[in-house]
Amino acid sequence: MGATLIVKCTQCGGLMLTAVRQKTKICPYCGTHVNLLLAQKVAAADTALEASEMLRKLKSEQKLNHKKT
Ligand SMILES: [Zn+2]
Repeated sequence: MGATLIVKCTQCGGLMLTAVRQKTKICPYCGTHVNLLLAQKVAAADTALEASEMLRKLKSEQKLNHKKT
């Protein structure tokens, strides 16, 4: 299993990085205390660097999707 997760904010749906062992995290977008046990896990990576690369890709894909709709 990866050491770093990409999770979706339960409130605004924003993507953020978190360590596997972390249980809560404050969303950088809306400031919500996100319960990581309830949050949707989008992806996992072995290193924080890998995770941030994945996050960047996911974000650019999201932008593309927004353009289409
Ligand atoms: Zn949020």
